[in-house]
Amino acid sequence: MTHFLDESGNIAQEMPTEARELASFFALVVDKASTKLPRRLSATDIRCFEKGCAGTTRIEIIRSTNEIRWMCSQCENEGMISKWEGTKWDNR
Ligand SMILES: [Zn+2]
Repeated sequence: MTHFLDESGNIAQEMPTEARELASFFALVVDKASTKLPRRLSATDIRCFEKGCAGTTRIEIIRSTNEIRWMCSQCENEGMISKWEGTKWDNR
């Protein structure tokens, strides 16, 4: 997560549109995950960012590494977010 952020912890302005969209998506996921702290895949209302996909994002926090795993409910889109602790979206 931290490589998307500037020195003040905001999403860096100087990024290609696609990277900014991804960073915004990550911010939403971190915000939600750090509020609900889901230990198994849980549904959220966060829209998948894949073009033409109407899926929503399911999230869980991996117990052993504290990484956030996210996965689309409809397409193959999925990934992990690390280094989110202490960012401005960390609600713990
Ligand atoms: Zn999707």
